[in-house]
Amino acid sequence: MNALFETTALHPADALGRPLRDLRVSVIETCNYRCPYCMPEGQTPEETALDRSRRLSFDDIETAVRGFARLGVRKIRLTGGEPLLRKNLPQLIARLAAVPGIDDLALTTNASLLAGQAQALRNAGLHRLTISLDALDPTVFRALSGGRGDVADVFAGIAAAEAAGFGALKLNAVIQRGVNEDQVLPLVEHFRGSGHVIRFIEYMDVGNCNGWRREAVVPSQQLRDQIAARWPLRALSATYRGEVASRYGFADGGGEIGFVSSVSEPFCGDCHRARLSADGQLFTCLFAAQGQDLRAAIAEGVDALATRVDALWQRRADRYSEQRASGGRDRKKIEMFYIGG
Ligand code: SAM
Ligand code: SF4
Ligand code: SF4
Repeated sequence: MNALFETTALHPADALGRPLRDLRVSVIETCNYRCPYCMPEGQTPEETALDRSRRLSFDDIETAVRGFARLGVRKIRLTGGEPLLRKNLPQLIARLAAVPGIDDLALTTNASLLAGQAQALRNAGLHRLTISLDALDPTVFRALSGGRGDVADVFAGIAAAEAAGFGALKLNAVIQRGVNEDQVLPLVEHFRGSGHVIRFIEYMDVGNCNGWRREAVVPSQQLRDQIAARWPLRALSATYRGEVASRYGFADGGGEIGFVSSVSEPFCGDCHRARLSADGQLFTCLFAAQGQDLRAAIAEGVDALATRVDALWQRRADRYSEQRASGGRDRKKIEMFYIGG
């Protein structure tokens, strides 16, 4: 058995035999952008309902991460909302980087504020950065940020991350039919040979407020064919079991790209991710209707938290993306900006 999928008394498997390896922690439930596919302006009820006073403190988050690490979590991704809006984030990063067992600490950001923070994040011990970038064209980019973003800020953030020593970055682009399909080849051309890896994400039916339609999804296969017609590609093997993106290398040695195909090629069978919202709810699937409140267990300490999560994980049977075709998609789902990507 693959080491990743070994389970022990301390490292539980869920009801479908999947271990818990990866935790995404939302450090904030709000954002300075209003990307229409995530947090469309004026249409997100939670925008006003969320109460910042319920956010977990850094002590709480560290306790949670220590408990999850005890259950086998090795990788933490900080997300949001926009995580760089959370005050004193480097302090949290330094604390999480020191948790035994956590060997990969990453952060996903829209990079609007990265230029001023990249060095502090690196100094605090952040290992990796993923940056969302849906378009190179300033007008298309601005529209995709809900009229709030400037693509020049993202490029300043990328330059600052390079200068801070982050090495290879991941760039995430969500492609929607008729919206930014024309940005695919320019994005590939721009990042080819840069050492950074662009990944194309299928537009997902997360939450209920983005008006998702299957027709707006551009299947990865189509993008792969389009890109390969210009720059021949060869498939690369996954770096670990359960890797979300399928990887391809440019045949001419120009680096690699990835595709995250949760709609056209669901990967629930290997899903070992849990999500913790900024106010302490555990979600065992991105498409869950509701979470499980962990705040009382966190307040009791690492042992209580680990015991509670262990019990919840063992009951987990989520496989939404594999069931999407059978019509589950009209039910209530939590919004992505609330639990993080
Ligand atoms: N604000 C940060 C950012 O945008 O990178 C972190 C949080 S955001 C929710 C995490 C990721 O989710 C982003 O890369 C974003 O593009 C992606 N995302 C949001 N809504 C999506 C959707 N409907 N389909 C696919 N990806 C989505
Ligand atoms: Fe904000 Fe990220 Fe959602 Fe865009 S995708 S609205 S940047 S949380
Ligand atoms: Fe994991 Fe749920 Fe996504 Fe399936 S749909 S891969 S179970 S988060």
